Amino acid sequence: MLEVALIRRTTSRVKHSWVRIEQSLGRWRERHPIAEAQVRDERLFVRRSVVTQGITVQSRLGGHGTEGVPVTGDRVVAVDIGGTSIKGAVAVRVDGGVELVGPSVRRATRAVDGPQAVLEAVLSVLTELQGQAPDVVAAGVGVAGTVDAAAGLVRFSANLGWRDLPLAGIAAQHTGLPIVLGHDVRSAALAEARLGAGRDENFVWFVSLGTGIAGGLITAGQVDPGATGQAGEFGHIVVDPGGDPCGCGNRGCLETLASASRVAARYRALTGVDTGAAEVAAAMRAGDAAAQQIWDDAAEALGAGLATVTALLDPGVVVLGGGLALAGDLLRDPVATALAQRLTFRRPPPVRVTTLGDQAGLLGVALAAFDDLDVDRSAPDPARGAAVGSDGSAADPATGAAVAAVGSAADPARGTADPAVGSAAEATS
Ligand SMILES: [Zn+2]
Repeated sequence: MLEVALIRRTTSRVKHSWVRIEQSLGRWRERHPIAEAQVRDERLFVRRSVVTQGITVQSRLGGHGTEGVPVTGDRVVAVDIGGTSIKGAVAVRVDGGVELVGPSVRRATRAVDGPQAVLEAVLSVLTELQGQAPDVVAAGVGVAGTVDAAAGLVRFSANLGWRDLPLAGIAAQHTGLPIVLGHDVRSAALAEARLGAGRDENFVWFVSLGTGIAGGLITAGQVDPGATGQAGEFGHIVVDPGGDPCGCGNRGCLETLASASRVAARYRALTGVDTGAAEVAAAMRAGDAAAQQIWDDAAEALGAGLATVTALLDPGVVVLGGGLALAGDLLRDPVATALAQRLTFRRPPPVRVTTLGDQAGLLGVALAAFDDLDVDRSAPDPARGAAVGSDGSAADPATGAAVAAVGSAADPARGTADPAVGSAAEATS
């Protein structure tokens, strides 16, 4: 295949070998038939992308000389796919971090239209951002769901309707860019740890309190995804055994008491007033007893959950993010108090609220994309692209097939376990 030869000769930075992309797409199409014309369009687009990629790489090598030297003028695309909206922006490297530049893009996720429609919406956001900045060199994409970043797969996302979607491969094909996948909350955690409320600490526990609850552990500026990429399901710590049923199938999970959506739902159940978590906070401030009760329950539950995390992990700081954290000190103070009361044997870590707000997810995937560029640039062998895939595996077709087959064989086992985790893993937006 001409494309394979071209990609491998021109760049070591295409994230997934062509063989793997083709196989992943094949498996995806078996389950989600795409019209032949669309397949043809995709291939045409790929050829254009490959040509673009070749030119980009050549000009970058010519313009900047040696590989391994960070290039501060680089720009990347950042996209954050949540259950409610798909957000995107172009990001640029600044001294010590990244910044979002240009107009941001926001589109409704509209999962009711089906998994293919959500995918197309994501691709159109990528296209729009590439139009804003044709010189972008990579893209970072954060997903609300169970993500296997190394394989470029979204294992499961209840809110997006995706299962075993080879999103990195599809997006790479669509844009001609190397794609870095990340989990939405762990991406936000990365940004808070490096640029936000946790930037002076080495060991940061970040919690997103949105539609659901999830957390992320950042050690020395790096995400810890766990052994199978499912670390941080903080919302499913049981804090009230026998309590309300949770979307995961269990009862009394933290998420049933302290997510932004459940705070609003509990207020509705108690008062009949249909409103959001921010309004519940405002009502509490105005002296509403029902709002106060629900808020206290949420803070207590969070304190209990964070006491468990502190006992296990000893974080240097706890950062609260997501919609509920917009309440600021109104949330931080009672949570810090509840945490301190439960930690009878040690001083509690400081509790802070996000300083990056709803930009944390986008900044995090942009950071990951820049990190990936730096790793690739520091590769010692200029011929690396011809012999070794970016995942470190040999990139010959035989090995590529083996890697893809392993990924495929592992799917059913994980698939059966995922719905429980995934259904509640969408913690943002
Ligand atoms: Zn649960």
